[in-house]
Amino acid sequence: MHECGCGGSHAHAGGGPFAEGRELVEFVSRAHGGALRDREIPGGGLATNCRGCGAPFTLTTFVGTCPACGGVHAVSPPRCDDAANIQFAGEGFTLP
Ligand SMILES: [Zn+2]
Repeated sequence: MHECGCGGSHAHAGGGPFAEGRELVEFVSRAHGGALRDREIPGGGLATNCRGCGAPFTLTTFVGTCPACGGVHAVSPPRCDDAANIQFAGEGFTLP
């Protein structure tokens, strides 16, 4: 999955809005000096299931937590039109 052979047409290093997993969560939580994480997702949020415990919840801000287990999830603005793009930081991760 990580061997794309693209020859450098897109960035692989240093995270960014197209990173995945914890890297993406950390990127979004730090973006705009931390202002982005509490910003509301346009359209009322994304309905999803927690990647940790499976509980259904709605991600209403770009960084949000599962109400059942506290698992941290995030989506980046360029990808916030699809709940499939929500990334999970992993069990045990807490926001700084
Ligand atoms: Zn959960």
